[in-house]
Amino acid sequence: MIETKLLLVEDEKPIREGLRDRLEREGFRVADVGTLAEAMTALDGNPDLVILDRRLPDGEGLEVLRALRASGRSTPVIVLSARGMPEDRVEGLEGGADDYVTKPFHLRELVARVHAVLKRAEPEPARVPFGDCELDLGARTLRRGGRDVAVTKMEFDLLLYLARNPGRVVSRTELLDRVWGYDRYPTTRTVDFHVQSLRKKLDPRHIVTVHGVGYRFEP
Ligand code: CA
Repeated sequence: MIETKLLLVEDEKPIREGLRDRLEREGFRVADVGTLAEAMTALDGNPDLVILDRRLPDGEGLEVLRALRASGRSTPVIVLSARGMPEDRVEGLEGGADDYVTKPFHLRELVARVHAVLKRAEPEPARVPFGDCELDLGARTLRRGGRDVAVTKMEFDLLLYLARNPGRVVSRTELLDRVWGYDRYPTTRTVDFHVQSLRKKLDPRHIVTVHGVGYRFEP
């Protein structure tokens, strides 16, 4: 299970809480903040999508969008605004927003847009190749040298997460968080155990131990 992390930036508490509850019921993992300053900090958590209110107590929400794009990140952003004037919409979209929703909106509409924007942003590749291996996302299988290799569900998810983050040091905590899910926290030794098991099934050089931190995937 790999959760999609949403960052919800909205200062009106009833709207924020209503949206958060609804999005969590959709299976998303939601971090919610109410100020521009908190939103800027929350970007460090690398959300998969940002829902962004424009009028925040400490500034203009579009600053978050600008900061994201200025740092080269293409994280999808849906802008919320009480203002529905056409020029506002243009400003949001020209600033690199992926969609623009005018308040008041129906929760169901926003949820549909979140799904649509995520789908557009990430056309899922059917296969992730590396070395002499290939992960088939449709069949959820690992193939090595053209032969199927038996992997468990967690091994598959772990390997997929690592393979999608090549060359980057991924901490055990991040793996627990993103692969296992925060509500089912096993210990960090669980990660090590699964990595050891995977190494027996792959060229072990693909998963490099970074001592004291975690692992780095080398395609
Ligand atoms: Ca507001």
